[in-house]
Amino acid sequence: MSEIKLGIIGGGQLGSMLSKAAKELNIKTVIYCDDKDAPGQNFCDEFIYAKYLDKNKIVEFAKKVNVITYEFENIPFESLNDLNKLKPVLPKPSVNRLIQHRLAEKDFINKLNIRTTRYVHVENKEDLLTLNDFCPGILKTTTMGYDGKGQYPITNLKEIDSLKINFNNEYILEKLVKLKKEISVIVTRFGNNRYEIYEPIENTHEEQILKHSKIPAEISKKIFEQSKEWAILIAEELKYIGTLCVEFFIDRNENLYVNEIAPRVHNSGHLTINAYNVSQFENHVRAVCSLEQIPLKKIANAEMINLIGDQIIPYRENLKNKDNQFFFDYLKKDIKEKRKMGHLTILK
Ligand code: ADP
Ligand code: MG
Repeated sequence: MSEIKLGIIGGGQLGSMLSKAAKELNIKTVIYCDDKDAPGQNFCDEFIYAKYLDKNKIVEFAKKVNVITYEFENIPFESLNDLNKLKPVLPKPSVNRLIQHRLAEKDFINKLNIRTTRYVHVENKEDLLTLNDFCPGILKTTTMGYDGKGQYPITNLKEIDSLKINFNNEYILEKLVKLKKEISVIVTRFGNNRYEIYEPIENTHEEQILKHSKIPAEISKKIFEQSKEWAILIAEELKYIGTLCVEFFIDRNENLYVNEIAPRVHNSGHLTINAYNVSQFENHVRAVCSLEQIPLKKIANAEMINLIGDQIIPYRENLKNKDNQFFFDYLKKDIKEKRKMGHLTILK
């Protein structure tokens, strides 16, 4: 086969790890990113720094590659659509458009008879003031949110003035679930009823940011099966190509809810690099580049700890990888509060 060049939009840690996985498969990568300091430039073969709406740069990017994918969902649909006219974009731009909008995403999931949190569209302050029934709840921007950004926990409607909510944005209000646990399921779909699926991962968040992930998740057999079934149904229904992650809530009554879908590789799946024969990143590259599908095999139980902000410093100074312990530094230029700087995976 002639040489494949993969275009990746976004140059954060996920783009970096996709590039690394591609390199091991002898696939060259071009990363396109609007951050000139993006860490992905340390891992790709070529780096293009430009705005996502720069029409000329987009054409230049498309000419350099055979197929295009992305590491995050908040990319203008218009750009993905323009790119898709030049080279295949996978997952399809229409999938990304659906999932990047929390309201459209939740409507889609409910149509599949899959449970989500209770939610309602909020267009202005007057709407919000009538929604006592959804409190305590979390107000979330319909688009552009990640790592808890654009979210306002609301216990009581009396407090909304003090939250300084910007009503130029559109929101949904979600009823707060009394969480027992959060899990995620990662699946890579190669085509009709052809997929590789990882076992459910148990996740712990701190201040709405993922802090810790582990396999096996401590969940019932019923939830183990149901979460995998729902993830596969979602991937099939979207005719998805590549790796996708479904985030779930489990409440104190053992009810399972889909929280959200990530149309991409996911932070909770970093442990797949060391715990499986094929990582979520390699599987994504295999699926979007139409390479061979390899049956998944779990190698070990594992846990992953995110290193956020200055938590990375002691690891940079002291830690070398040990037999069962793997340290990843994303090589981000500046340490910032709440920024994911690296992670540690420990095999059990
Ligand atoms: P993001 O796009 O920032 O990941 P999420 O909707 O996944 O946003 O919310 C981040 C985290 O906040 C969740 O993983 C969960 O811990 C908490 N959270 C969000 N919505 C709810 C909810 N309705 N009930 C309980 N916890 C929630
Ligand atoms: Mg989330």
